[in-house]
Amino acid sequence: MKQINTDIVIVGAGLAGIYTALNIDSSIRVDIIVKEDLHDTNSRLAQGGIAGELEIEPKNLEAHINDTLKAGSYLNDELAVRVLVNEASININRLMEYNVKFDRDINGKVLLTKEGGHSTRRILHSGGDSTGKDIMFALKEECMRRENIHIHENTMAIDLISDNNVCYGVSCLNGNKNTIHFIANNTVLATGGIGNIYGSTTNSTSATADGIALAYRKDVKIEKMEFVQFHPTAFHNQHSKHRQKFLISEAVRGEGAHLLNSESVRFMEKYDERLELAPRDKVSQAIYREMYDTWTDHVYLDARHLDPTFLPKRFPTIFNHLKQEGYDIRTQLIPVSPVQHFNVGGVKTDIYGQTTMKNLFANGECASNGVHGANRLASNSLLECIVFGNRIAININSAKITPITHQFSFKEVETYNYNYIPMKNKLGRLMDEYVGIVRTEDGLKLAKVQIIDMENSLIKDPNNSKHYYEALNMIQTAHLIVDAALKRTESIGCHYRIN
Ligand SMILES: Cc1cc2nc3c(=O)[nH]c(=O)nc-3n(C[C@H](O)[C@H](O)[C@H](O)COP(=O)(O)OP(=O)(O)OC[C@H]3O[C@@H](n4cnc5c(N)ncnc54)[C@H](O)[C@@H]3O)c2cc1C
Repeated sequence: MKQINTDIVIVGAGLAGIYTALNIDSSIRVDIIVKEDLHDTNSRLAQGGIAGELEIEPKNLEAHINDTLKAGSYLNDELAVRVLVNEASININRLMEYNVKFDRDINGKVLLTKEGGHSTRRILHSGGDSTGKDIMFALKEECMRRENIHIHENTMAIDLISDNNVCYGVSCLNGNKNTIHFIANNTVLATGGIGNIYGSTTNSTSATADGIALAYRKDVKIEKMEFVQFHPTAFHNQHSKHRQKFLISEAVRGEGAHLLNSESVRFMEKYDERLELAPRDKVSQAIYREMYDTWTDHVYLDARHLDPTFLPKRFPTIFNHLKQEGYDIRTQLIPVSPVQHFNVGGVKTDIYGQTTMKNLFANGECASNGVHGANRLASNSLLECIVFGNRIAININSAKITPITHQFSFKEVETYNYNYIPMKNKLGRLMDEYVGIVRTEDGLKLAKVQIIDMENSLIKDPNNSKHYYEALNMIQTAHLIVDAALKRTESIGCHYRIN
């Protein structure tokens, strides 16, 4: 057992964690802990881009605010949305100072694209469709130059260290079973998404809902868990057994691609006047309906009418991936289906990232700061990571750091080499079947009974291993989703109940 005393511990090295760390004063020690390696993040997978108005033009800012509120079915916290939109410019400009190179035209003007739910072109991108990868590369380089930032890979947070609703850091597993306790004045949860709870997801393998479950086990408030966003267009590979599915960015539809059903008929006009650029919940629900009515498990993305020289240049990652899978997007229909993509709810915070536990902050996909309402507007999540990361840093920079005098006692638990894979697979099947795009009371209740059964068997038999904590985090978070989905009987945003 090892103990490290620090000023700030940040759990997670995606955009939410790294950007927060970069904005902390250089006189303050920051320890970032990462479950596996630095590459395994949802941030790195982001293709479409980052939304934000660079010019402070009130009419355009209001339009971004309105699009965000509309996509969220007005369940958003309007103050949080105003913060998100108004502070976009300063933080996106800071990304550029950190050497992120957004795509520009030959005159040096930043190129902007459009995605579902956006009324204008306001999305910056990099490398065509490798925005996340390029941002994370530049920020990692910047982190390496900072002497106050210490990164610990292969270190998984398993428990918050807390007393009387005050957070004092986090206990971790280094490798599979060696325990390290980080004692810190401030702790930031930035653990990302929940995707692996489902059988099919666009998320990275690290997205197992850890931060939400850690907070839940210490009675920190969690909210809006019924709102799980499904991306309409993941590449549908019938033969792939992997949970993680390849995403085909909404920006492809933003540039004019259409959706066709199994009869090669364009169908979105039956469902929404915004057609293929309706918000994701509407498009996913429409695809679900088409698949149901035609007894198939996919529809098609059609980009054959677009300029064939434009597609490989604008979407090199997507073009090359599909080529490897045997598809040419310039000449062939691409099979696609909706899969789990984004967690809208999470650990409740205020507009400074503060959770309901003192000295505990949350940022990024694991947090619920009110910006998304009942559904996230495309490309607002990278923005959320930087705007609220900056606010958390400002908050921490201005607070006085005092030595922690509290005494802690940590207990040892036995470790077994179980992998819990059958349990994780069973959970994925249950969530896909009963807690997916379309939900019913009977289905949710059926899932709940089995989830409680799995949860009880894990709690009865504790095991100090990475696999155990992942299974426990996934199952406890699934339980939170099912309970929230049962409670909300109306259909709104990405929560769709048919009875
Ligand atoms: C395929 C794909 C495409 C996307 N495209 C876009 C887009 O174009 N625009 C947009 O705005 N958004 C997009 N999103 C969403 C966006 O990428 C994410 O919401 C955002 O990057 C989340 O950042 P994060 O830092 O919160 O989480 P992540 O980037 O996932 O980082 C989480 C970090 O936490 C670590 N971690 C997790 N659990 C633990 C633990 N127990 N202990 C220690 N470390 C832990 C992980 O290892 C990782 O380092 C996309 C998402 C996906 C999956």
